[in-house]
Amino acid sequence: MYDVLIIGGGIVGTTIARRLSRYKLSVCLVEKSNDVAMGSTKANSAIVHGGYAEANAKLKGRLCYKGRVQYEQLNKELNFGFRKTGSLVITTDENNLPKLEAMLENGQKNGLTDLKILSHDEIMAMEPNINPDVRYALYCEGAGVCSPYEMAIAMAENAVHNGVELFLFSEVVGIDKEEDHFVVHMTNRDFKTRYVINAAGLYSDKIDQMVNEKTFEIRPRSGEYILFAPGTGKALNTVVFQMPSKMGKGILVTSTYHGNLLLGPDAIDEDGGVDRSTHVERLYKIYKEGLLTTDKMDIETFIRSFTGLRAVASTDDFIVGATATPGFLNAAGIQSPGLTSSPAIADMITEELAAQGLTLEEDPSYDPYRAPIIERKEEMRPYSEIAPLLDIPSCPEKIICRCEQVEEKTIVDCLHRGIPVLSVDGVKRRTRASMGYCQGDFCRPRIKAIMEREYGVPIDIRTDIQKEGAARVTREEFLAYCREQEK
Ligand SMILES: Cc1cc2nc3c(=O)[nH]c(=O)nc-3n(C[C@H](O)[C@H](O)[C@H](O)COP(=O)(O)OP(=O)(O)OC[C@H]3O[C@@H](n4cnc5c(N)ncnc54)[C@H](O)[C@@H]3O)c2cc1C
Repeated sequence: MYDVLIIGGGIVGTTIARRLSRYKLSVCLVEKSNDVAMGSTKANSAIVHGGYAEANAKLKGRLCYKGRVQYEQLNKELNFGFRKTGSLVITTDENNLPKLEAMLENGQKNGLTDLKILSHDEIMAMEPNINPDVRYALYCEGAGVCSPYEMAIAMAENAVHNGVELFLFSEVVGIDKEEDHFVVHMTNRDFKTRYVINAAGLYSDKIDQMVNEKTFEIRPRSGEYILFAPGTGKALNTVVFQMPSKMGKGILVTSTYHGNLLLGPDAIDEDGGVDRSTHVERLYKIYKEGLLTTDKMDIETFIRSFTGLRAVASTDDFIVGATATPGFLNAAGIQSPGLTSSPAIADMITEELAAQGLTLEEDPSYDPYRAPIIERKEEMRPYSEIAPLLDIPSCPEKIICRCEQVEEKTIVDCLHRGIPVLSVDGVKRRTRASMGYCQGDFCRPRIKAIMEREYGVPIDIRTDIQKEGAARVTREEFLAYCREQEK
């Protein structure tokens, strides 16, 4: 019997697992996909938000800043990639000043002390490439960017290192409440556990209804993105938002943690389904809106489009903590800023477990550290230096991915860290191999060969998106559409 079983290996489930791994408890994390970080955690803006945007009356307003302030320390321990860049909410309309002031005031209510309104000149000094018509901006000094899937992977690796058991390919299909424990039924096994944590993202309403009366619903809200080539992120220094709307924080333009310019997301409520396809008309609209922030974007450097799905709860807030069923806790409806808030959500769940009678005794063997798989590359090595390392016999220094300059030893390392990596995309998320200009044309077969050699099992070379049957707008389609529109 486990003490705690966590359903869902997104950033919320993995952060809770790692948080609990410091105590003398038996904990397991069950995930239906072939890897952790396969839901909303895989595709989002990756912003470590300031915490001024959500009202203090909402849990998401109260948890964001509490999560944000933990990032620096977490990144020191886990090396997943976090950079404090600061963020700006900009306006070109003089009349929006009171709205920025209201956001500042709300941020102060949420505990923030690093907000200020900037004038045109101050903004231009900070961001020389921004739209020169900008009038005012709300600046948050402590906001930043991170690598969300690397963060969830790091959390999971460290949790496993500290004794948490991770079960992939394990979809929860039913839960029975017995006298003093639960029986959790999965497609491939059943487990007994004293406590259940529901962190199942888009499906957290279905999981909740396995034990409780229906009190909320989750609806997917899609958001599409354009990602530009490595190095393009240098156009901006901070995360730049436009004025928010009822549907969200609006189109942002930022550099990703690894230095690609990122544009998006839009927001469309979906009627059901979880289609991660992208659409050329939506991408074009995002591009045009992005131009209101900066024109330092070259569409020729478009390398990829993608879609994220927000788990929007009918309560329009995070649903975290006790439910009508003692021992069954929710971490549901975790839409934005859920990534930022995840450390605070894990704290709240831990406190609730203690309140419900779980003994939390520190484990003296707990090790909070996890070595990085990769470091952020400021500059790539000259091609002449890597060319002789491309087609040599297998060795640690052999370059497997030409665009991102990933060595064989990095690929091998990521495969042997306590979590089986069973897709080529799993290697991509851990090492960045196939994230560059050619999007894997060159290196995917080479990665597959290393995986098969290391694991001795056949590996499916297809991408996650190909396996899901989703269609993504390609660079050629996007460029052709832009040309057509601009005629
Ligand atoms: C477009 C977009 C932009 C965003 N931008 C930001 C941002 O910039 N900053 C920020 O802080 N937040 C942002 N967010 C929010 C953030 O991405 C989410 O809050 C966070 O990823 C939610 O994590 P999660 O673990 O709750 O869910 P998920 O990552 O979806 O994980 C849930 C997991 O549960 C698994 N699961 C589901 N059902 C079952 C089952 N029956 N059995 C077993 N496993 C199951 C799924 O496979 C999945 O892996 C954004 C979200 C989106 C979509």
